Amino acid sequence: MRRPGKEAVWSIRLKPEIDELLEREARKRGVSKNDLVKSIILDWAYRNGYNKVLHFNFRNATITLWDFLLNQTVDLTYTGDRRLFCEHCRAHSCGHIYYAVTSIPEVARKVKRGEIRVD
Ligand SMILES: [Zn+2]
Repeated sequence: MRRPGKEAVWSIRLKPEIDELLEREARKRGVSKNDLVKSIILDWAYRNGYNKVLHFNFRNATITLWDFLLNQTVDLTYTGDRRLFCEHCRAHSCGHIYYAVTSIPEVARKVKRGEIRVD
């Protein structure tokens, strides 16, 4: 049974090419490789219906999501080039942005009107 607050720790074997790819992306985002892999797993969870957002706030330049799996809030901010930036994943493309543009009607409308650009 899952003990709340206790994180699972395990190691994974990767080909050096994949490890380098993760290393490069983590450096680009300014996050640890560990956090990058967690972000990638969350992205997968969102796209496959394993994660959900319990509530969100809409402020001027920020959308705040409650991430059910992370058990914390995640801020998405508008950038000058009309894209969303996820402060948690340090990326313009992640599960949180995917969720926002596909499941929050107000955000989906902004995408349709071209006020928000998606990659
Ligand atoms: Zn994110």
